[in-house]
Amino acid sequence: MLSKEYKTAPSKLPRMGDKTLRLYDTMSRQVKPVKLLEPGHLRFYSCGPTVYSYAHIGNFRTFLTADLIVRTAEAIGWRVSYVSNITDVGHLTEDDVADAAGEDKMERALRSKEGENFHNVWELAEYYESALQEDWQRLNLREPMVRPKATQHMREQILATEELIGKKSAYETPTGVYFDVESFPGYGKLSGNTQEGLKSSVRDVVADDNKRRQADFALWKKDEKHLMQWFSPYGWGFPGWHLECSVMAMKYLGETIDLHGGGEDLIFPHHECEIAQSETLSGKPFCDHWVHTRFLLVNGEKMSKRAGNFYTVRDLVGRGADPLAIRYALISGVYTKNLNFTDQSLSDATSNVERFRRADAVVDAALDSAGEGPDVFGSTLEDLYEEALEAMLNDLNTSVALAKALEGARTILREEGTISKAAAQSAKSFLDRVNALLGIVRHDVALPVTEAAPAKPAIDGARIQARIEERAAAKKAKDFALADAIRRELDAAGIELRDTPEGTVWVVKTASLS
Ligand code: AMP
Ligand code: ZN
Repeated sequence: MLSKEYKTAPSKLPRMGDKTLRLYDTMSRQVKPVKLLEPGHLRFYSCGPTVYSYAHIGNFRTFLTADLIVRTAEAIGWRVSYVSNITDVGHLTEDDVADAAGEDKMERALRSKEGENFHNVWELAEYYESALQEDWQRLNLREPMVRPKATQHMREQILATEELIGKKSAYETPTGVYFDVESFPGYGKLSGNTQEGLKSSVRDVVADDNKRRQADFALWKKDEKHLMQWFSPYGWGFPGWHLECSVMAMKYLGETIDLHGGGEDLIFPHHECEIAQSETLSGKPFCDHWVHTRFLLVNGEKMSKRAGNFYTVRDLVGRGADPLAIRYALISGVYTKNLNFTDQSLSDATSNVERFRRADAVVDAALDSAGEGPDVFGSTLEDLYEEALEAMLNDLNTSVALAKALEGARTILREEGTISKAAAQSAKSFLDRVNALLGIVRHDVALPVTEAAPAKPAIDGARIQARIEERAAAKKAKDFALADAIRRELDAAGIELRDTPEGTVWVVKTASLS
């Protein structure tokens, strides 16, 4: 085969006994342990974005599932080879409903209003790729080991097409080269879309007389007018969308990989076609475990430009949202269920991230200046971290993991002012490990100064606290006019007060979704 395994440096991470990561596997329809072909080394491929526009927060929900898998695997001492691609050619507008139908998303973007900003489609791809990387960093996602691009793997895709034709699994027509799904009896094993079912279902929208059967999918499209085209044994054209992920996964991770991910819409046809191509090429199982993230909804609805509820990370950051709070809100629900992103969820996430930041600052101050004394936290923080990790190992139960982590932050904040050096050290270790696992305390890699933190309140923490106490005293004395005035004054300075069972807390006000 074409592939050569990509080597990485040996891991310096600690081994963590027999802990294992359990995830829902779309193929076997059950939660099962992720099996590693090579002990202690996870080979993971997650489908990345098509760079025809800014990635939206739904895309990021899926990328964050991959990020959490990487972080959780590393937390139990696995070395992770993580590959996430960039699709910059061949993803057609109707690829989800019919084979090779519609126009290339990249070409359509160039003809749109936004496209007027670019000289050509290559420049457009480059721009949105760097925008993606910025947003990726803002939301504190781990960089993949490789971020391969479809356009840079043309040779591999053409060779794979040749090999599939040679194996009689693909055939050429006047319009392109198609994979013969009947040559691969396992077609349909991931999605349940059998060849029989396909004849009368989703993919019969476009009838292409040149194909032997409707379900056969494109490996190569002949197109002399396409803006991105390469010369192949079948003339000028471009590859089908599914082929890039087969060749790039196998090139960088080997013919059999441990885990493959993406959003729920990729189960069919994209991943089904990847399996058929890869297993025919190598004669080996392609992937043992398939993980798919359910869609993000915004205010209960599917995100769409037409519904006006379509948000990118930069939209929200531009309105003052804290990037780590966006991250927090996007991971607050388990990936196997739809998640509803609302003003309330973003605002709750903002207060929670603020709690982690304050705990971090309190601990840093104590490390600088605290005196000797007992570690008041005893094993409490250690136990909370272990519970958070267990939750993540159990099919990425982020809601439980975040709740445990938050309980730890609250425990630290309750001891503010009385923390000894020893206690500060165990609190620091807790926050560091929580951050490595969930990425919500601080950025792993510092952002440029202008973006590092959300808009600062016009007044400092001590003064806000003093005003909160004055407001509590005013309420007690039934001077509601004064209490309201204090709330309004803080509101005008960008501070929102929340009355909770644990007392009044303050948060920096954030973006609104409406
Ligand atoms: P695309 O840029 O269209 O290739 O999509 C990149 C990734 O985002 C794919 O894995 C999609 O399945 C995923 N995705 C698209 N929309 C959503 C959504 N609303 N929620 C979660 N994931 C999504
Ligand atoms: Zn893919």
